[in-house]
Amino acid sequence: MIKLLSDLGVLPVSLLHKIGFCSFAKAGLSLFDPTDSQKRDLEKLIKMIPASYQGLLSGKLYLNALKFIRSLKEFLEGTRRPVILEEANIQFILDFLKEKVGKVGGVIVLDCGSIPELSAIAGKLAYLNRNVTIYDKFFINPVGTTKFLTEQLAYLGRETALKYYAEMLKKELGAKFDIKISTTDLIVHQYGVTIDKFLDSLDIEKIFEQMYHYVKQDSILVTADHGYDLVADEHGLYITHGYKRKCPLNFSRIALFLIID
Ligand SMILES: [Zn+2]
Repeated sequence: MIKLLSDLGVLPVSLLHKIGFCSFAKAGLSLFDPTDSQKRDLEKLIKMIPASYQGLLSGKLYLNALKFIRSLKEFLEGTRRPVILEEANIQFILDFLKEKVGKVGGVIVLDCGSIPELSAIAGKLAYLNRNVTIYDKFFINPVGTTKFLTEQLAYLGRETALKYYAEMLKKELGAKFDIKISTTDLIVHQYGVTIDKFLDSLDIEKIFEQMYHYVKQDSILVTADHGYDLVADEHGLYITHGYKRKCPLNFSRIALFLIID
């Protein structure tokens, strides 16, 4: 997905984001058996993309999104092993990061950093000749809430707020600084009604510029506490996190680890 988006990297991040988001939304909905009104909501969303780029949503990007959603579903539902001892456990994640990542210059933690945002930003950075590494291990957040992560910090002798997670990662990975960006979470809570409002109000260019500022200085680890869910129910299509029922995109359960250098 990131490779495909970086091929389009000449476009502004906000358009890359819309294209990526719509590819995931279309793929997620196609596996969901949507109602006619939900299908219309998706069509309305796709119209936010300039007509000349709408064709991309039927080709490789769509197939790629479909493949990703299928394997994520399989991973989240298929495995019966206790993730709480592994990918859902902060100590396990710390050990993994210390072994695989080692040292980084800085740490950026997004409150609600979901797959569409991270792939758009990573695609743009790859286009700008940055090295982007995504680990095949991710943090699993079975309930999709910040609290699930921050509560674990107490057992590690830390205060229970997301900024202390960023601070802990900084210390453990020998980084010089840590940043927490809450933009997406605030939008998800404030405008958590419809997807077009979400796409319109999320200033992804600003998040990108914030991150790019630090990427220019040093290698950066980017991660999140959870992503968000794309829900399709009687209220139409909307974004939330920690949704408990079946929904087209269940991204609030995972947080990726990216290294940009
Ligand atoms: Zn939240």
